[in-house]
Amino acid sequence: MIPAAFAYAAPTSVADAVALLRAGGGEAKVLAGGHSLLPLMKLRLASPTVLVDINRIPGLSYIREDPALGRLRIGALTRHVEIERSPLIRARYPLLADAAAGIGDPQVRNRGTMGGSIAHGDPASDWPAVLLAADGEVVTTGASEERVIAASDFLIDTFTTALAPDELLTEVRLPLPAERSGGSYQKLERKVGDYAIVGVAAQLRLDEQGIVAAVGIGLCNAGPTSIKAVAAEDFLRGKPLAPDNVSEAARLAMEASNPVTDDRGPAEYKRAMVKELTKRALLQAAARAQGGAR
Ligand SMILES: Cc1cc2nc3c(=O)[nH]c(=O)nc-3n(C[C@H](O)[C@H](O)[C@H](O)COP(=O)(O)OP(=O)(O)OC[C@H]3O[C@@H](n4cnc5c(N)ncnc54)[C@H](O)[C@@H]3O)c2cc1C
Repeated sequence: MIPAAFAYAAPTSVADAVALLRAGGGEAKVLAGGHSLLPLMKLRLASPTVLVDINRIPGLSYIREDPALGRLRIGALTRHVEIERSPLIRARYPLLADAAAGIGDPQVRNRGTMGGSIAHGDPASDWPAVLLAADGEVVTTGASEERVIAASDFLIDTFTTALAPDELLTEVRLPLPAERSGGSYQKLERKVGDYAIVGVAAQLRLDEQGIVAAVGIGLCNAGPTSIKAVAAEDFLRGKPLAPDNVSEAARLAMEASNPVTDDRGPAEYKRAMVKELTKRALLQAAARAQGGAR
């Protein structure tokens, strides 16, 4: 449980952090909350030669709406707990409020960051599924350019993202909530503080007649990477949320899942839970879109 030797740097600007990553030539790693990286280092599953600690870089932790951009902007170093407790998030982004409150335990939420969670590319992390449902984007900063990447393009495979070794994930963006929109995150855990057995994020917008005008569904821990349930989304768009339609969308989300049997349960059980949680997430998102229980 002792990590391999490594050098440590604590830059105070994004530019310096990027320069350190570049100098590390792929062997340097960013240290944010450390709640995923340090366990991997202790198990010697990761042995970076340099840790670039970004915790002393000012201006990477914030939650604000940007009407000109039409986006909610969250700094990469924003802790899970700051999202959980944010009055803005609680009032206007129930999908995020649900997910933040269910991440790990208070120690994990106090240290872990949204940026770290997404950069890590772990299919068991909750934020990537939320981003897929909400059509989120990530902003990366490298030596010469800033990139804005759709979450669906960013999340490539298990522990693999579109982030280059000399880039920092600097911001997460989500669309501002439209009229008659709502979201919900449903997570099934073995016990409080654990990763999800499976989780389902849903975000939808209804038109004035109650027809689904837009919908996003993201699955957590239901396959080798976080999954966007595209067939379920396509099926629901343009239809009312009648029980048969909800059931069919849930079945299609289950079809999109590809979980493995492990100590969190058999694959068949997880698939069945994806179906059930998709129904619950859609129905709660719709209730919230119609001004119901937050
Ligand atoms: C007991 C326990 C329970 C947990 N339960 C859950 C859970 O239920 N749900 C959940 O989603 N997560 C859970 N986690 C994980 C937790 O949310 C982590 O905090 C998160 O996955 C990683 O964020 P971090 O800030 O700690 O990143 P770190 O551990 O510091 O970094 C993780 C990886 O991302 C890279 N990285 C970090 N920040 C950046 C950045 N800004 N730019 C580029 N690369 C970056 C690092 O180099 C590293 O490769 C749990 C962790 C523990 C220890």
